[in-house]
Amino acid sequence: MPYLGTINGKRVIPPQVENNAEVTCPVCEDPMGVVKSHERGGAFISRHFRHHDREDQTEFTTTHGQSTFDDLGSGGKCPGESDVHLKMKSIAYARLKHDFPDATVELESGVDERIADVLLTFDEPCAPYGNGIAIEAQYRNEGKDIDGVTEHYLERGYSVAWLYEDDFSGYDVDLSGLHTVWPCALPDRSGLEGYPDVTRWLRQEKSPSVKLEVPIPGEFWASFDKSGEWVQVAHRYLRRGRFSHSSRAWVTISRSPTGQLTIQIGKKDWGFGGDKHRVTVQLERSDCEELRSFATELEHEGFESEHPSADEREESWYDLTTAWFVGSQNVTSWLSASLSPDDEIVLSLGKKTGGDTDRVSLQIDQTAVGALRSIADLLEQAFELET
Ligand SMILES: [Zn+2]
Repeated sequence: MPYLGTINGKRVIPPQVENNAEVTCPVCEDPMGVVKSHERGGAFISRHFRHHDREDQTEFTTTHGQSTFDDLGSGGKCPGESDVHLKMKSIAYARLKHDFPDATVELESGVDERIADVLLTFDEPCAPYGNGIAIEAQYRNEGKDIDGVTEHYLERGYSVAWLYEDDFSGYDVDLSGLHTVWPCALPDRSGLEGYPDVTRWLRQEKSPSVKLEVPIPGEFWASFDKSGEWVQVAHRYLRRGRFSHSSRAWVTISRSPTGQLTIQIGKKDWGFGGDKHRVTVQLERSDCEELRSFATELEHEGFESEHPSADEREESWYDLTTAWFVGSQNVTSWLSASLSPDDEIVLSLGKKTGGDTDRVSLQIDQTAVGALRSIADLLEQAFELET
């Protein structure tokens, strides 16, 4: 594949001529045309020359240096001539033109008195390349000061690529070894030479405040996981005042390990180590309203109305009001308020599962009305949070 031609005796490489240019092969002196850069089967084919009369023939591939007449003689086809260094420049030029069609690409152009083999310049600085890209094609160690040249370009905001023969294959070149301005050109922490005093002052070593993100140990974190446990959502005492000397009684809303909201009414017999009695039943959302109207009925029937006298009651216990909870197929549950034979108001929470009845009963005063109302509100909020 020829990368060298002549026009009026002057050596040219593909980037230097127009698309429709006619060049002469320096080997066989036949005319050649330009093949534009293109892709074929996923491979990049850089701009090159081709003999007009041999379009159907595969060009020789020369791997080292210039082709000779011996090469020509062996196959009867002219491989053209390719000065390796010029070929490397041609391919690099074509590749940059292809990859950055909007940028300016020049051969033998420089930045501040240093000439690159190929220089690409962006109209606007472009991350991560900066102002542009300088290509240095290295053919058989030319003894360049690689570090010095690299620094020269990076300091001026240009990325640099040093290309060697093994970066080239076929018509293509691998540019992945590019030293990009970002992050290669960032100054070292210690290198503040040339910076204004204020920058040096700002960047001086001080005792910095330290921020550390310390991960919480898994076990500690897991201890907040309440799945598998009963979680109390709300708690209210059901009686105070005149009953407080006898025993405590409460109503609580809790979430069961299976995520169900439940209501519990319990009491503890007076004294240290007194027995606890409690019943817990499962609730549904509609039970909030049932509980609220129970509190209203209790207040009205229990504390605002005349109680029927014992004589007027047909039975010794007189039912004031009852709330039936939704329960489930196997469980019937209810909350009731009754007048005892002694004319005390007694609250009962009960449930019946199969043939077994579980019930807790306790004497209440008007405190219970407010407690139950407040529990009904909290229960409703708990249901809202669940959804
Ligand atoms: Zn030729």
